[in-house]
Amino acid sequence: MRTVIVGSSVGGVRTAQALRGAGYDGDVVLVGQERVLPYDKPPLSKSLLAGTNDRAGITLLSESAAAEAGIRLELGCAATRLDLDGSRVELADGRRLEFDDVVIATGARARPSPWGRPPGLHVLRTLDDAEALRADLRRGGPLVVIGAGFIGAEVAATAREIGIEDVSIVDPQPVPMSRALDPAVAARFAALHRERGVATRFGVGVRAIDESGGSLVVRLTDGSALAATTVVVGIGAIPDVEWLRSSGLRIDDGLVCDQYSRALDAPHVHGVGDVARWFHPGHGRLVRVEHWTNAVEQAACVAHNITQSNNPRVHAPVEYVWSDQYDWKFQLAGRTGNGLAAHFVAGADPRSFAVLYADSDGRLAGAATINWPRALVACRRALHRDAHLDDVRSAVAPTTHPGAPIAR
Ligand SMILES: Cc1cc2nc3c(=O)[nH]c(=O)nc-3n(C[C@H](O)[C@H](O)[C@H](O)COP(=O)(O)OP(=O)(O)OC[C@H]3O[C@@H](n4cnc5c(N)ncnc54)[C@H](O)[C@@H]3O)c2cc1C
Repeated sequence: MRTVIVGSSVGGVRTAQALRGAGYDGDVVLVGQERVLPYDKPPLSKSLLAGTNDRAGITLLSESAAAEAGIRLELGCAATRLDLDGSRVELADGRRLEFDDVVIATGARARPSPWGRPPGLHVLRTLDDAEALRADLRRGGPLVVIGAGFIGAEVAATAREIGIEDVSIVDPQPVPMSRALDPAVAARFAALHRERGVATRFGVGVRAIDESGGSLVVRLTDGSALAATTVVVGIGAIPDVEWLRSSGLRIDDGLVCDQYSRALDAPHVHGVGDVARWFHPGHGRLVRVEHWTNAVEQAACVAHNITQSNNPRVHAPVEYVWSDQYDWKFQLAGRTGNGLAAHFVAGADPRSFAVLYADSDGRLAGAATINWPRALVACRRALHRDAHLDDVRSAVAPTTHPGAPIAR
């Protein structure tokens, strides 16, 4: 028996480890196109970029740990084709790996800059990207970050933390992290960035990036321009599915999977992490989640479903994401979108607060917390047991004020 896992980041590594944890005694082969040992991505915009962490500190699986667990590493070699009839993965060097099960964990790559790629312009997805950006940041500013999603916002924060004076962040949306955050919480992050010295240019787009005499000029849609020595383009990610195009599998913004994370009509093909777009039974629709915890939880589910294919588990997580910016730790669990009532709860520490989101029947649907991990843990537990908002409020902050709706 053999399981081939394609993609050697957190989704792939955790699947391999979970297979062994579940008692799988067949061959486990982990294929990765990058030559380096598997590494973790969240530090790339935080500690690794700041220079307080290094390659060794973000390694997910050492050679000795892989050998000990019986995980065969095939690094530095991309998978180029999935042959379902022959149950084989084809590699760029011409080799073919036969499998009984195959796990697709090829993640996503940074959406490329639509404004060209002059020297000094960066995207941030891989360790190489992060090291190249770190080297350029050593020259100092000005730094212009285009895109105020999680990664862009973290890069701006890290740049300020390492002493870069002139940092701007540009986004056509009126607030940062607008896809994930309630506008009121997002507005607090906008204020935080301004307080820490970032020039925020929200509600304005980028028209062009020109290169002149070794420096860059970012031209904005309102007619203004920002000079930069370094530009970071953080405008999202694209699932890495091109190598699957000829497989016959359904590809639509990721590998489409059922509630068990199995590819449609291909029960021995499993999707994990950022590349998988699976049917989430709790939401009643296909979703693709680009967050670390989902990759880990989906890996565990897929390992279970490979080892116990007659008794498969659905993958129906309560979504969870965190972000570290300056000394603020942001955590979010569940849903926070429109149609939910938002309730603010102040923490005992003046820098901490939570926003609890409730359905029309008063049940907790989601929570966002700032600098308050204990409250987030309580909310995650409450989400799993479908608790009522009032119970959660008392569990979260029994000694602080009861909270009031925040402006939306
Ligand atoms: C800078 C940064 C910061 C982040 N911070 C956070 C955070 O604070 N909190 C959070 O929740 N999430 C964060 N994330 C998101 C989180 O890291 C991802 O959700 C997670 O890495 C997804 O893991 P994955 O294994 O599914 O995919 P990926 O990490 O994208 O890994 C896929 C792997 O597959 C390889 N691959 C691709 N195609 C092929 C092929 N054809 N053959 C072989 N190998 C291939 C890739 O090279 C890569 O190594 C961050 C992401 C980035 C980039």
